Amino acid sequence: MTARRPLIAGNWKMNGLRADGLKLVEGLVAHLRSGDQAFDMLVCPPTTLVAEVAAAATGSTLLVGGQDCHAKEKGAHTGDTSAWMLKDVGASCVIVGHSERRQDHAESNAVVKAKAGAAHAAGLIAIVCIGETLDQRDRGEALSVVTSQLLESLPEGATPENTVVAYEPVWAIGTGKVATPDDVAEVHAEIRKQAREKMGDDAARLRILYGGSVKPDNAKELLALTDVDGALVGGASLKVEDFWAIAQGC
Ligand code: PGA
Repeated sequence: MTARRPLIAGNWKMNGLRADGLKLVEGLVAHLRSGDQAFDMLVCPPTTLVAEVAAAATGSTLLVGGQDCHAKEKGAHTGDTSAWMLKDVGASCVIVGHSERRQDHAESNAVVKAKAGAAHAAGLIAIVCIGETLDQRDRGEALSVVTSQLLESLPEGATPENTVVAYEPVWAIGTGKVATPDDVAEVHAEIRKQAREKMGDDAARLRILYGGSVKPDNAKELLALTDVDGALVGGASLKVEDFWAIAQGC
């Protein structure tokens, strides 16, 4: 059995003015400094705050990431941010393929794959999100949808060191509905099995996060599942005490 260090990741989405964001980070840094932790902790603030949050986290173990990146290094792409720019201001990770990006910006697996490849080229860890909709689950297609998203979104050269996979059933995001532990366990086991297609035996070291309405009161049960190696947390990552309490479930 390979020991995988859990990753507790906060996705702030489009939330956080400077004062709120910096207060949140100060609180997390204070907790992290209180002792050695058995998990890695990451926050992904909106792009406007990545540099300041990274500066505030300097000297602590708190990791900072972006929520998206462009597939290109630079150029005529108004409004976009490259992986190199995120890296330049102190990010070490970037989320790609979040279902809100797949929906709101029509991002295909091919686009997600190109973004993940750019993240790797820039020296960032890509957190590649996949997950089925409620209709797909009701039709019995959850495993096939997640498998094709995984295999089509992971770029060549993906390793457990430069890549994290986040399974986020779309119907569980921001809804308060959490997938049952049995459903989560089934999908995570399938993801690890399929990841062998890309990574061979190294897939045993790949971190697979669960996301979708993770809260302090359900985190422990989810994080205890064999193939769940952490959580991607939206709403509950906006409060220091909730986010910290979730991490205590590791
Ligand atoms: P939620 O969001 O925790 O608010 O459901 C999770 C996510 O979208 O990453």
